[in-house]
Amino acid sequence: MNKISFEGGIHPPEKKELSENESIFDFPLQPVIAIPLLQHLGAPAKPLVQKGDLVKKGQLLGEAQGFISANIHSSACGKVKDIDYINHPVTGRGLAVIIETDKENSTLDESVKPVENPDKLSPQDIADIAKKSGIVGMGGATFPTHVKLIPPKDKYYEWLILNGAECEPYLTADYRLMLEQPEKILLGAKLMMKSCKAKKTYIAIESNKPEAIKEWTKICEKEDWIEVKVMKTKYPQGAEKQLINAITGREVPSGGLPVDVNVLVQNVGTAAALYDAVYNGMPLVTRVTTVTGAVVKRANLNVPIGTFVSDIIKFLGGYNGEPGKLILGGPMMGINQRTDEIPILKGSSGILVLNKSEAKKKTETNCIRCSKCVSACPMGLMPFELAQRTKIGDIETAKKIGAMDCIECGSCSFVCPAGIDLVHLIRLAKNTIIAQKKRGA
Ligand code: SF4
Ligand code: SF4
Repeated sequence: MNKISFEGGIHPPEKKELSENESIFDFPLQPVIAIPLLQHLGAPAKPLVQKGDLVKKGQLLGEAQGFISANIHSSACGKVKDIDYINHPVTGRGLAVIIETDKENSTLDESVKPVENPDKLSPQDIADIAKKSGIVGMGGATFPTHVKLIPPKDKYYEWLILNGAECEPYLTADYRLMLEQPEKILLGAKLMMKSCKAKKTYIAIESNKPEAIKEWTKICEKEDWIEVKVMKTKYPQGAEKQLINAITGREVPSGGLPVDVNVLVQNVGTAAALYDAVYNGMPLVTRVTTVTGAVVKRANLNVPIGTFVSDIIKFLGGYNGEPGKLILGGPMMGINQRTDEIPILKGSSGILVLNKSEAKKKTETNCIRCSKCVSACPMGLMPFELAQRTKIGDIETAKKIGAMDCIECGSCSFVCPAGIDLVHLIRLAKNTIIAQKKRGA
C-alpha cells in the first residue's frame, strides 16, 4: 500500500481501540437541551423565537448574520424555556435557546422537505441548501460550508478532498460514519463536487483504518469520479494544508487559502450533513460524536445538537474514577472544559475524559535547545523561537518569523522534553497580532 504524507508531524498514542468498534446509535432526546446561537466561525445567529414559543424539529431558531455565519435550527420539538447565557464550550459563555423538549418529538417543521429531484439541482442551488440548512465544517473548523463551496469569481476548484483522516488520537466518529453510512457520504460528496465544479474527488483515509480503506476502495471501484488516497498514520495528517500537500503536492501559500491552489477540503461528516439536507430536507440538527477515555461506557453517538455533556456521561454510566480533564474534541486540538454542563455543538467531534494521571502536566524547565519542536512542526516553523519572542513581548519578530502560519496543532508542545506549552505561547502571539490588526496598529 502506497502511503502518502507530509514533512514533520508526530506519533502520539492512537487510542482508537477504545471506541473504534462501537457502532453509532441515536442518543435519546433529553428533557432539556440548550442550542447556542454561535456554533460556527463568524457572527452569532440572531434569535427568531421567544420564551414560551412552541418549536418543531428542524425549525429555524436563529438566522445567520453577515457573510460568514450560519443558521441555527431546533433539534427537537418543545417549548422555549428561555433565551439566556449558558456555559459555551468554545467562548466560555454564550447566548442559547433553551428548550423543554416534547417526549414524542414527532412534529417536523413544515420546511423539512426532501428535494424532489436532486440530480436537477444547479451548483448554486446546492450551496443555497447548505446555507439554508446551517451546514458548517464538521471536522471542528465550523467554517460555513456554503461560503467555501462556490469559489471567488477569479478562482476555481480542480479537486475536492474528502477528509476522512481523523488524525486526532482517541476519536472514531468519522471512522464509524465511513463504515456505517458510506452512501450518505458518497452522495453528499457528489453534490459537493457538482457545486464546486471540481474535476475529481479524493477521499483521504489514514492507514490505521484498514476496514474503512477496504470498504471505500470497493465503493470507488464502481465510480470514476472518486478515488481513495491512503495516508500515513501521522498527526496532524488531517490538517487542511498537510492533506493538500500530501495528495496534490501543492503548497497553500503563507496567509493563503486552499482555493489559492484550486482545492476544496471538506470533512466526511459535512458530506453526510449535505446529504441529509438534500435527500431528507433535514437541516444540521444532529452530529456523530465519540465519547471515550475514562467513562464507564465508551460510544459513538448520533446526538441532538444542544444535548448537555453531563446528560451523555450520566447515560453512559458516569465517569470511570475521578476525572482529571474533560476535553471537547481530541487531546491535541480539543478544548479543555471547566464543567460538563455544556452543550454539544455542530463542531463537537468528541468528548474525551482523561483520568488524573493522564491529565498531569509535565513540570516546565528551561529550553535545552534540542530542536525536537522544529522537527515536529508540520509548518516548518521554529516553535522555540516563536515562544521565546512571545515571552519577552517581541511580537513584531514573532510575526516576522511566521507566528500567523502556526496551525495550533500542538505537535511542538507534545514533543518538548522541557514541558514548555509552546502552542499556548504561540497562540498568545497570534491573538496579539490579530488584536493589533483590528486596532489598525
Ligand atoms: S502548534 Fe504551531 S508551531 Fe507548534 S508544531 Fe503546530 S504548527 Fe508548528
Ligand atoms: S523541544 Fe522544547 S526544549 Fe527542545 S528546543 Fe523546542 S522548546 Fe526547547
